[in-house]
Amino acid sequence: MGTTETGYENANGQKVLGPSDLTSNHHNQRLFEMSCTHCGCGYNANGCDIHIRRCPSCQNGKPSSEAL
Ligand SMILES: [Zn+2]
Repeated sequence: MGTTETGYENANGQKVLGPSDLTSNHHNQRLFEMSCTHCGCGYNANGCDIHIRRCPSCQNGKPSSEAL
């Protein structure tokens, strides 16, 4: 399963809810809607970051990625 597929969950328990309509400020990346399986926090992440993403709320991860 690809790391940007809906339902993918990384080793930190961060789950992909699906692609958003937003383009990120990161070069040529789309933002994906993410959810933390530990605390339920929702946020946006760059596609290239999903596999290493940590929850901004309970895992000291980066804040939700900004749209362009
Ligand atoms: Zn969390």
